[in-house]
Amino acid sequence: MSLEFNNYETNLKPICCGSCGSIPSNDEKLLRCSACRVIKYCNINCQRNHWSQCHKKECKTIKRKMSFWEDQAKEQFEKANDATDMCIMGTRLALGNNDDLINHELACKLYEIATTVQRPIFGGHPVAMLHLALHYERGIGVQQSHTDAYRYYKSVIDHPFPGEENTSPAFVALSRYHKTGLVGAGDGRVVAEQSEELANKY
Ligand SMILES: [Zn+2]
Ligand SMILES: [Zn+2]
Repeated sequence: MSLEFNNYETNLKPICCGSCGSIPSNDEKLLRCSACRVIKYCNINCQRNHWSQCHKKECKTIKRKMSFWEDQAKEQFEKANDATDMCIMGTRLALGNNDDLINHELACKLYEIATTVQRPIFGGHPVAMLHLALHYERGIGVQQSHTDAYRYYKSVIDHPFPGEENTSPAFVALSRYHKTGLVGAGDGRVVAEQSEELANKY
C-alpha cells in the first residue's frame, strides 16, 4: 500500500451510484443499502434495479467483508497505538484497493485519530493530516469545509517532522488557497488572505 500523495489525490473519487454510476453533487444525498451499508444509490429506483439485477447476490458478501474492516478499525480506535497502521487502513478504505470496498467516513475517522497519535511520529501522523485535508477540501467522507482543509494542510507545514514528500503537496494546496483567498464559514473570519506574496511563499 503506497502512501504517496499524488496517487491518493488522483484516485480519491466520490462514491457514485451503484446502479447508474452517476455522481451526485452532494455525497450526503445518496441512499445507502440498509443491509450492507456500503453501496449507495441516487434514488429508490436505482436501488431496486440494482437489487434485482445483482446486488441481492453480493450484498451479504460485501457486508461480511466490510464488517471485517470495521472491526479492524475499531481495534485501531481502541488501541490508538500506531498511526502508520491507521494511515494504511484509511488509504485502503478510501481508495478501495482491488475489492472496491470503500468507506470514506471510516477512513476519515482513522485519519482524525492518527493526527493525534504520538507513535511512530511525535506530533501526529503528517500523512493523516494531508489525506484528511484533501477529504475536507473535496467533501468526501466528511462535510466539505475549506476552513478545516486549510487547517490540516497548515498543520503539515507546522509539523516538527513532516517529511519533504508531505510538505510539498501541502505547500501547493496552501498556495492554491492564497491565490483565491478563503473566508471561514459563519464568522466571516479570513482564514487564508488573498495574497500573491503568500501564494508564492507556499
Ligand atoms: Zn443511480
Ligand atoms: Zn447491500
